[in-house]
Amino acid sequence: MTRHYNFCAGPAALPVAVLERARDELLDYRGRGLSVMEMSHRSAEFNEIAERAERDLRDLLAIPDNYRVLFLQGGATLQFAMLPYNLLGQGGTPNYIDTGIWSKKAIDEAKRLFSAHIAASSRDNGLSAVPRPEAIALSDDAAYLHYTGNETIGGLEFDYIPELPEDVPLVCDLSSSILSRPLDVSRFGVIYAGAQKNIGPAGLTVVILRDDLLERGRADMPSLFSYQAMSEAGSMVNTPPTYAWYLAGLVFQWLKNEVGGLAAMADINRRKAQKLYRAIDESQLYSNPIDPVNRSWMNVPFVLAEERLNAGFLEQAEQAGLLNLKGHRSVGGMRASLYNAVPEEGVEALIGFMREFERKNA
Ligand code: PMP
Repeated sequence: MTRHYNFCAGPAALPVAVLERARDELLDYRGRGLSVMEMSHRSAEFNEIAERAERDLRDLLAIPDNYRVLFLQGGATLQFAMLPYNLLGQGGTPNYIDTGIWSKKAIDEAKRLFSAHIAASSRDNGLSAVPRPEAIALSDDAAYLHYTGNETIGGLEFDYIPELPEDVPLVCDLSSSILSRPLDVSRFGVIYAGAQKNIGPAGLTVVILRDDLLERGRADMPSLFSYQAMSEAGSMVNTPPTYAWYLAGLVFQWLKNEVGGLAAMADINRRKAQKLYRAIDESQLYSNPIDPVNRSWMNVPFVLAEERLNAGFLEQAEQAGLLNLKGHRSVGGMRASLYNAVPEEGVEALIGFMREFERKNA
């Protein structure tokens, strides 16, 4: 069996130790004689798995007691709609920072349903830097401010957490950077993340929200949309994605017990990203357009100076066991996603390959 280095933006690499544990427990979960996939979500066994996962996530992120953690479905994309439904029950205008493709999708979804005020935008700098804090201009009746902590396609990451008036909750899509480093959860009203990058497999979405916000939902939404209904039912209004929840729990245990927590994870992630950006900056062939303070640790897009080399680059990378380096179809070029489960050796292998490819094509 050979495991290649997988730089996919999502669904993304999972830690080998997690996959091995899942394999070992696949047919017979800890002597129960059945797989987690075959358990009732109402069983004592699954309840223990679900509660343990939440506890471990709370430990990792030091989530304060007045925050609820929800394990939902529908991807981060459903959160684009659930947010306005849940936070606009008392009126007001949702505010957004526009930093690229994912924030724009969140804005478009809000606009389909309600309205949206763009409080700040990176469009005038070609999406190469996030707006500075002083550029954020809220509407008078702001119901919340939403931003995308890390733009997965653009490779643009916030280097600060916006400061808001106390009555305006801050909402953040952290799909591609949650758990990549420590986070002060108390600064946020709502954080959400699709699982398929740093949490686990696709099919699960984690929402972390301050409990006073549960009161703000509209009365006319489907129950599966309601944070309050989901919170009251322990995320089990209906059958949750049990196996994805279990795998997320294994990832949380790996982060706690094998990596040593998010500060240790951040050290590794910082080194991985710095090494790759340095290699890009030192080369004549590769380039990345993002302002250094906003360069994403998790998603590193880069282009080759000569487009005719793209196909050969991807083909030879794959032969070298370096998978999924093709950039998003909307922007082209290359992208290396360096999520938590991509080891430092994988990044070194990628850099070695890139240098050799440049030398051969000079
Ligand atoms: N937000 C961000 C930042 C993302 O990277 C993605 C997926 N790549 C999404 C939202 C959408 O996630 P999903 O496919 O889980 O709906």
